[in-house]
Amino acid sequence: MLMICERRPTTRTLRGWAIHVLQEVGAIRECEEHGWMQDRADPHARERAFDIARRDPPAEVSPQAAEAAVRDVLDSIGDTCPECSPDEENRR
Ligand SMILES: [Zn+2]
Repeated sequence: MLMICERRPTTRTLRGWAIHVLQEVGAIRECEEHGWMQDRADPHARERAFDIARRDPPAEVSPQAAEAAVRDVLDSIGDTCPECSPDEENRR
């Protein structure tokens, strides 16, 4: 199920790597309209991302640091797009 996005430029920062991993497992996604990252609140996807961080961290990064980076990204991402108004969705 894991797909490698080869068309994307190499992620050079640890945070960029963590975002990439989280996107690939489906733990976060980008708003199609605005491009904001959204946390999908999927515990299984998160667990897969942590697994990858522990088993396959980027070169010269410890599994602990990779796992912490994934956690940091999850902490910093909200579960809604700031530009998609929740009020509009509720009105439907
Ligand atoms: Zn949006």
